[in-house]
Amino acid sequence: MQPTQTLLVTGGAGFIGGNFVIRQIQRGDTEIVNLDALTYAGNLDTLDSVEDHPNHNFVLGSIGDSALVDYLLLRHQPTAIVNFAAESHVDRSIDSPEAFIQTNILGTFQLLEAARRYWRNLADDARNRFRFLHVSTDEVYGSLGPSGRFTETTPYQPNSPYSASKASSDHLVRAYFHTYGLPVLTTNCSNNYGPFQFPEKLIPLMIHNALAGRPLPVYGDGSNVRDWLYVEDHCRAIERVLEAGTPGEVYNVGGNNELTNLSVVQALCDLLDELCPDSPHRPHRQLINFVTDRPGHDRRYAIDAGKIASQLGWVPSETFATGLRKTVRWYLDHQNWCQRVMDGSYRGERLGTGTAG
Ligand code: NAD
Repeated sequence: MQPTQTLLVTGGAGFIGGNFVIRQIQRGDTEIVNLDALTYAGNLDTLDSVEDHPNHNFVLGSIGDSALVDYLLLRHQPTAIVNFAAESHVDRSIDSPEAFIQTNILGTFQLLEAARRYWRNLADDARNRFRFLHVSTDEVYGSLGPSGRFTETTPYQPNSPYSASKASSDHLVRAYFHTYGLPVLTTNCSNNYGPFQFPEKLIPLMIHNALAGRPLPVYGDGSNVRDWLYVEDHCRAIERVLEAGTPGEVYNVGGNNELTNLSVVQALCDLLDELCPDSPHRPHRQLINFVTDRPGHDRRYAIDAGKIASQLGWVPSETFATGLRKTVRWYLDHQNWCQRVMDGSYRGERLGTGTAG
């Protein structure tokens, strides 16, 4: 099948970007230019299955490198840019916020500028078709009390350097629509989980520790509430917004799965008890260990995903129970992927596979 569209995907060696790239390549009708700086969160192992596919072009580089992005846009003439590239871990943003400002704010700004230069010189048809889709988070909206849900018009109240940097990038994206007419789309999504997630995030960290019989650290009393979405459902939502979203609009994406952190960890423990009947660490719940809470820890996030459902017909396919089971099975079947992250061997040895174009 000949590709009918070309996407410049940024951050496509990360968790969500990697799942998105693999899905697009499997579809067969899409050529991908995958620009990733391969920070600690970028992992070429994730892209093993598409590494040699003719529709996949991996490029090692930063969204902040204007000359490189200009070159890639001119050479590949993408129909859209999908911006996943970011520093994404809240705890790291508390310890060292600077990289978050550099990539999430300045990097997005440079990418928008490159997109604007490219888009304004396109012929009419290509100009009308072009989209800039910015992938963002529900964390920009701040923290909720026991009731209510974030809608697309909830005021921004970010509380961590991570969410503040994403909020800032969202504002820039919005401004490029209102000021220059750049056809942007923004998605604000809740917590993702699924294959290929770096084991510093809650679900893969807990699976990794539980399998090794190590403590399962839960912040505070574990009562912070998050909404959880299986990563493939998020990728389908992005696809749908790209296809049918209205330029300038924001779409909230969520899984209708509000759970406390403690209940997520307990559900994982119970699944591991079932799927690893010979484990010496059963019952895995005995490994749960409450630790000092994160500073500024938001209490509750909840997404109202009614707009994307009613306007674009997207709803999640997985419940938390089915998505979590798939995820745990994936980590059990891919312990080598996790091990190579934990011992650092995923970094460095294959950087030579990146090309400059
Ligand atoms: P991730 O940390 O797993 O991946 C980020 C990727 O971006 C990595 O491959 C990294 O190498 C790359 N990158 C970092 N700086 C770069 C730069 N300057 N230029 C090019 N590439 C760069 O993140 P993720 O969890 O896959 O999240 C992807 C996007 O989705 C982020 O923008 C994040 O804010 C957003 N998001 C994530 C979640 C979630 O639960 N993980 C939820 C909602 C929104």
